[in-house]
Amino acid sequence: MTTVLISGAGIAGPALANLLTRAGFRVTVVERAKGLRTGGYPVDVRGPAVEALRRTGVLDAAAEAHVDLRRITFLTDGGEPFAEIDPLTMTGGSEGRDIEVPRGLLTDLLHASTGNDVDYRFSESITALTDRGDDVHVTFASGREEVFDLVVGADGLHSPVRRLVFGDESDFLRPLGLCFAGFTIPTPDSMVREARMQNAPGRIAAIYAPDGSGLSHGFLTTTAEGPLATARSSTEQIVAAVRAAFAGSAGIVPDLLAALDRADDVYADSVCQVRMDTWSRGRVALVGDAAFAPSFPTGQGTSLALVGAYVLAGELATRATHTEAFAAYREVVRDYADLNHGLADNGAARLVPRTGEALAARNTMLTSPPEGDPAPEQNHAINSLELPDYARLARL
Ligand SMILES: Cc1cc2nc3c(=O)[nH]c(=O)nc-3n(C[C@H](O)[C@H](O)[C@H](O)COP(=O)(O)OP(=O)(O)OC[C@H]3O[C@@H](n4cnc5c(N)ncnc54)[C@H](O)[C@@H]3O)c2cc1C
Repeated sequence: MTTVLISGAGIAGPALANLLTRAGFRVTVVERAKGLRTGGYPVDVRGPAVEALRRTGVLDAAAEAHVDLRRITFLTDGGEPFAEIDPLTMTGGSEGRDIEVPRGLLTDLLHASTGNDVDYRFSESITALTDRGDDVHVTFASGREEVFDLVVGADGLHSPVRRLVFGDESDFLRPLGLCFAGFTIPTPDSMVREARMQNAPGRIAAIYAPDGSGLSHGFLTTTAEGPLATARSSTEQIVAAVRAAFAGSAGIVPDLLAALDRADDVYADSVCQVRMDTWSRGRVALVGDAAFAPSFPTGQGTSLALVGAYVLAGELATRATHTEAFAAYREVVRDYADLNHGLADNGAARLVPRTGEALAARNTMLTSPPEGDPAPEQNHAINSLELPDYARLARL
């Protein structure tokens, strides 16, 4: 039985573990965190990713938790509402097919569906890898040493496996010139299944209320240069930059800054894509954000992670060798990843217009939208891949 070690239990890791286990591989997953990271903002599963999720067996359970966001209200710099839109007109996607679910719930469902068949090890990570040609020798932070046939890095934007095998992340991260802080905020007023967004040139404050739980997600995003834009700053440095950018703003910003002060779950980072010429070397491959993070202005990170996991599992299950499988995986997914990467610059420009002129033009688009498909570029990229069938993965 082929043994596979996966680093990371986010979205791509548990999805790949699920699918490989169904195809008869023996899978171990190591996750740096103490347990599953079950909280988090809702993420979109769109286009072929819906079918990829179906093949894991958890689509129905995930669909029950579909957030079904009703509207996004845009506010002036002073906090006055001036436009209300259907979220699909901003991000693309298909009503009735695509779903939006809390990220942690998706992780939880994927983990629970194969938890007994997969060896999940928490508070553990890889510290060294040696590809010996016929296998990979792995040393873990716990001191344990083990040998696996294959290793997959599904350990996110700042992937440690990518660093160990391919080198420093600065060679692969493409900054979009933004940084952000995300955190929990008590839901204001009667917000349910809706978002509010307040722009000034070069910054956006957002509150996203997915349900009636009383807790929402707050995001403060601002333009960034130098280390702040290139993932070389600490959480504290990014939070300080965000605070400075929003100081003195009105509307929803004071509540967001107060929540940022109190929050114990602040997640701050620069906004980057991952672009690589290859996603594998020898017996080690990358999947999800580690290989091809498209960045959050595309809203496609989770879909790419699910599709990537499905194709990687399918190719490994059906090809004669891992070398052929890794090559075919890239061949199948590359154009889809490239097209979705291509959404980021326009997405970021729409989300965070940098000048007063650009903001006025964006706001005119919101108040007087053009006729026809409001998100043609997004819908083309979202649906640009036809999922291969991989009969061996269909056996549930
Ligand atoms: C603010 C924000 C908003 C977003 N909004 C959306 C959205 O609306 N729609 C959407 O589709 N996507 C969105 N995304 C992107 C989405 O969350 C990611 O693209 C998706 O989670 C990628 O999954 P992944 O499994 O590749 O990586 P991750 O989900 O990042 O998982 C990586 C895992 O690896 C673990 N790990 C890290 N280092 C190690 C180590 N050394 N050893 C072991 N484990 C390790 C981490 O703890 C984590 O559990 C957003 C992202 C952010 C930051």
